Amino acid sequence: MSETQSTDIAIIGAGPVGLFAVFEAGMLEMRCHVVDALDAPGGQCTALYPEKPIYDIPGHPEIGGGALVEALLAQAAPFAPVYHLGHRIERLSPVAGGGWRLESDKGLALEARAVIVAAGGGMFGPNRPPLAGIEAYEGTSVFYAIARREEFRDQRLVIGGGGDSAVDWAISLAEVAKSVQIVHRRPKFRAAPESVARLHALADAGQVELVVPYQLAGLEGAEGRLSAVVVRTLDGEVRRLPADVLLPFYGLSTELGPIAEWGLETEHNLVSVDPARFSTSAPDIFAIGDIVTYPGKLKLILCGFSEAAMATQAIHPLVHPSEALHFEYSTTKGLPT
Ligand code: FAD
Repeated sequence: MSETQSTDIAIIGAGPVGLFAVFEAGMLEMRCHVVDALDAPGGQCTALYPEKPIYDIPGHPEIGGGALVEALLAQAAPFAPVYHLGHRIERLSPVAGGGWRLESDKGLALEARAVIVAAGGGMFGPNRPPLAGIEAYEGTSVFYAIARREEFRDQRLVIGGGGDSAVDWAISLAEVAKSVQIVHRRPKFRAAPESVARLHALADAGQVELVVPYQLAGLEGAEGRLSAVVVRTLDGEVRRLPADVLLPFYGLSTELGPIAEWGLETEHNLVSVDPARFSTSAPDIFAIGDIVTYPGKLKLILCGFSEAAMATQAIHPLVHPSEALHFEYSTTKGLPT
């Protein structure tokens, strides 16, 4: 277990709502550490629809999921949040005198005066292909999410899957990668028809190779660096695809995960909150975003943003007990210089 880090607020979940909570907390002079089980920030926006346009973010007639996350990260940046990505919070235990100790599956220990659970639909985990030794390549040659496609410039990519993510990324990465091969167990792809048409056009132009009907069968490489991906048909025909990177896109599994064990009052797998303060049934633990339920709750990003503002106002007296909180507009207060 590494040394315990301490902060004013620990935010569990780096989805859009958790990220905006960093900004709102920062405006009230509260520092945050943000923990997410995924390797990239942005929650559902990054993991499920980075390139799909969202039309109901106030002030943005249209913005992509990924672009919204980039903007939220930039908005939070002046407050220097500390991100712990790839850590799943497993345990919460009370600290004497107030606050909570959080422990992750990978040995992170955090102490915070207050906790904001912004865990969305619960934990996402990539559906991993059952390939022997795949863990050794994860984060170096095998990626389940893409933050910046530039990282794959001039690389030989093998993409696994036949749904929207696999097809959309094959189309996008074909512009920067040295080669793109998309491996799917059926000849027919399950993505949006326009995307499938674009994929076939790229295949006809020789910019993407459709490796169908094949399944991933094995990995070759050394010291976390791939050299080839082995694929096989149901009839046992084998091909060896020289590759630098494997991108398996077999969807994500979601589950409430360890949150169900923390003793918070829940209703239908959602955390019950007081909608005036976003406090949960446990002292100093607040919850916002898709994970919460209260009368009239809408699972919309814009509602989560408002919840972040209200929760941080409610947390202020815990972090700054001797300071009266005067409501101020951002236009009046400005940003830290
Ligand atoms: P999430 O985005 O779900 O993020 C929660 C994060 O918490 C995840 O990254 C997860 O890994 C992490 N986490 C969970 N448990 C733990 C743990 N124990 N330890 C560490 N990390 C943990 N909304 C709109 O307003 N407009 C739209 O047009 C729209 N379109 C959508 C389209 C699609 C295809 C989908 C799937 C959703 C759409 N939504 C839309 C819904 C929107 O994405 C969600 O409302 C929003 O993502 C909720 O944000 P959040 O921060 O509460 O949670």
